[in-house]
Amino acid sequence: MNKIVIDDIRVIENRLECTYSVSGEWKKYFLTPHTFIVEYSKSIDTVPPSVAVIPFLCNILPVAWILDGQVILENVDKDFYDSIDKFKQGFIDMYPALSFKGRIIPSKVTDNKHHDNSYKTAAFFSGGVDSFSTLISHIDETPILMTLWGADIPFEDQAGWNLVDNYIESIANDKKLDYVSIKTPLRRFLDEAGLSEYVVKETGNNWWYGFQHGVGVIGHAAPYVYQYNVKTIYIASSFTEEDRSTCASDPSIDNNVRFCGSRVIHDGFEYSRQDKVNRISEYVRRSGAPLNLRVCWESEGGSNCCNCEKCHLTILCLLAGKNDPREYGFSYRNDELANMMKDFRMEIHFTHPSCNILYHIIQEEMHKNYKVNDVDKSLKWYYKMDIEKELSPQKRIMYRFIRKAKRITRK
Ligand SMILES: [Zn+2]
Repeated sequence: MNKIVIDDIRVIENRLECTYSVSGEWKKYFLTPHTFIVEYSKSIDTVPPSVAVIPFLCNILPVAWILDGQVILENVDKDFYDSIDKFKQGFIDMYPALSFKGRIIPSKVTDNKHHDNSYKTAAFFSGGVDSFSTLISHIDETPILMTLWGADIPFEDQAGWNLVDNYIESIANDKKLDYVSIKTPLRRFLDEAGLSEYVVKETGNNWWYGFQHGVGVIGHAAPYVYQYNVKTIYIASSFTEEDRSTCASDPSIDNNVRFCGSRVIHDGFEYSRQDKVNRISEYVRRSGAPLNLRVCWESEGGSNCCNCEKCHLTILCLLAGKNDPREYGFSYRNDELANMMKDFRMEIHFTHPSCNILYHIIQEEMHKNYKVNDVDKSLKWYYKMDIEKELSPQKRIMYRFIRKAKRITRK
């Protein structure tokens, strides 16, 4: 039988350490050593074990459900324990072909609710389009900014992390917000590739994207929420009702996670990426303060590479809204735009078909803001494109074939 026993939970100043033993067939998916150590940039020294265990639990629950594992532990927060079945249901509804078994078995549950009223809020913040839009929506609440080191920037990329850390700290200082960074092994304690292989056939998703990254990120807020009496936690949405697909960060999951009397809000679900970019540029115009976005996951060093699909897409949204991307953290020369958009023209054939909705929205924004003769010549193809025809399943197959042939010729 697959089983995890949580042997010890310790909190020392700003750091929590969870030690566990694994038995059964699923052991191969847990990398050694079996410790999960999280470091906060601020003290969490009053946090009890029933709360300190939540970051680890949030990252192993989907594994326990899929591989029918039992998680045995001494004590867990009551709100969190009571919410598990509710956010599990979000996964069950998302992946009807899979069975979600497994459970956690605590000896005790403890109510850790704060009884004094708090209006404090916190927001996960990476500096990208989604999280900036969330920050703008809730700026009057002066949310605490939270960022994970270990999600999209590995521990090895110290230089990249320093840039991101300094960048978010400067935004926090500028807007007079608190900021906490959280160094976490969430992407280095599981055999992510092995788990991806296990689920990809049934779901089309890899482990991180399809199972771990919503609740796995949210759980890290729990110790901080407890110590600093935070009431509401925002996690920015990447999708809308219209282009929603199977992704572990979904309102049906995130909105149901609870701990220590707080609530989680999957924020901005009503806005498309184009809407968010427009909201950001309106904010910049209104406030007069320049703002650098950080959207790229491809480049080391925490800056925007201007060569990946995510960079290209954001540049296109900015241009569609009549903004200069170079004022938003994208650095390129005039003569480079044509090649960037040429690459994007190829890339759109390999994105998920649900992206077509966003491509339509961007095109409408362009039609609203430009006449055909006014639009930059490197964007004319997009302005005129028949999206349904260009991104039909047949054309997508054809482009796959072209890409493959090109690779073979290059070899
Ligand atoms: Zn990039």
